[in-house]
Amino acid sequence: MPIFAGSKSATMDKQLKVFKFGGASVKSADAIKHVGGILKSFAGDPLVIVVSAMGKTTNAMEEVVEAHAAQTGDAFQKLEKIKQEHYQIAQELCGDSEELFTLLNDIFVEVEWVLEEAPEDNYDYMYDQIVSIGELISTRIVAYYLQSIDLPVEWMDARDVVRTDNIFREGWVQWEETTERAQNKMLPILEGNKMLVTQGFIGSTSENFTTTLGREGSDYSAAIFSYCLDAESMTIWKDVPGVLTADPRKFDNVSKLDALSYREAIEMTYYGAKVIHPKTIKPLQNKNIPLRVKSFVDPKGSGTLISAEIEDNYPPMVAIESNQALVNISTRDFSFVAEHHMSFLFQTIADMRLQVNMMQNTAISFAISVNDVDDKVERFAEAIQENFQTRIERNLELITVRHFNRETLDGLREGKMLMLEERIRNTVQMVVKKVPALRRKDEEVA
Ligand code: ADP
Ligand code: ASP
Ligand code: MG
Repeated sequence: MPIFAGSKSATMDKQLKVFKFGGASVKSADAIKHVGGILKSFAGDPLVIVVSAMGKTTNAMEEVVEAHAAQTGDAFQKLEKIKQEHYQIAQELCGDSEELFTLLNDIFVEVEWVLEEAPEDNYDYMYDQIVSIGELISTRIVAYYLQSIDLPVEWMDARDVVRTDNIFREGWVQWEETTERAQNKMLPILEGNKMLVTQGFIGSTSENFTTTLGREGSDYSAAIFSYCLDAESMTIWKDVPGVLTADPRKFDNVSKLDALSYREAIEMTYYGAKVIHPKTIKPLQNKNIPLRVKSFVDPKGSGTLISAEIEDNYPPMVAIESNQALVNISTRDFSFVAEHHMSFLFQTIADMRLQVNMMQNTAISFAISVNDVDDKVERFAEAIQENFQTRIERNLELITVRHFNRETLDGLREGKMLMLEERIRNTVQMVVKKVPALRRKDEEVA
């Protein structure tokens, strides 16, 4: 089987596009019909369509895992609720299709078998085997529906393509193998100008165990396929008009950015702009594949174009990452942290895959602001405790402002205690703690 050098296959007459539809765009039967409407206008184009789990299914599946791990006795009940919701949507879209219901049932049965056994010692492994079915189910329903409206759709199991290492819940992509498999398995189908529906978020190890790529990882999956297949462009369809200057759930005076450079997009998403998964941009940048962020509500809208074009006139942009922990590390003996201990500390940070967002050191102490995920911070403190004392401060926010102006910074600092701040060129970053404003009592009460 040839590996097509450079761009596109010799026989693909049209250029390949990759689309990604997230949970919000497939959360109900009506939403999926709407997606069908968008895709109708691309019929005849070779298209890879990456689909997430429906709505908040991944959160609900996480609850199943937790219930099973803690043996609370209601894991089956929780799974049953998810099953019924999906069956309801499948029924609304495709009626009583026995073929579809058999496909769905086969997927649920596998999880039921897992739940019948005692919980695995390896939580992360168990998590991936269970949570991954959200995407398997949603893609089965979406693909089946799209076929029923006469779109030339084929379903594909992303685990047959995306190969990762053995780190469950945060698999790292093995690029060479994934590229080879994508070209061998996906291109021949796409050459018939077909639409391939596949899952975001999931992959598999060399021993064929299912892995996931990290929460919100479906954007990243779409970028993996785009990279491996040399797509002409990638589009993610969102419930917002494009990339905005800040999260519209947290700010009300946001505006849409028409264009962004890859670099700008990487900086903003790495530090918490939740509109795109941070790992998404780099593979696209490496092959100069443009990324469009468009609204599925208003598909004709212009959206945001992320590409190599440099825009040097950006308005202030804000990204907020909540759930920060500030870890203050100091030596137990009299040695200087910077002189003697950095390599050990960095190695431990890397081994634990802690995301360090800011760091600062003095002679005898070192402070890092990290994403406070699960019990990673405690495990880190434990791993270094022989030589270091740690003080952990939680429930903080990391605020990143690019292209700042005074007004934006002043507004953001209001009512906050500054724990750490750094300024580099056009970026200000701060770790802050919310402090309730002190209010004077009424004269009479006082
Ligand atoms: P998906 O359905 O693809 O998973 P998400 O819900 O993960 O979509 O991402 C879209 C959401 O990201 C938007 O609804 C919006 O609230 C949020 N968001 C956060 N920061 C931004 C930003 N800078 N621009 C646009 N949306 C943002
Ligand atoms: N379904 C996964 C999640 O919710 C992946 C994604 O939607 O991007 O995290
Ligand atoms: Mg998402």
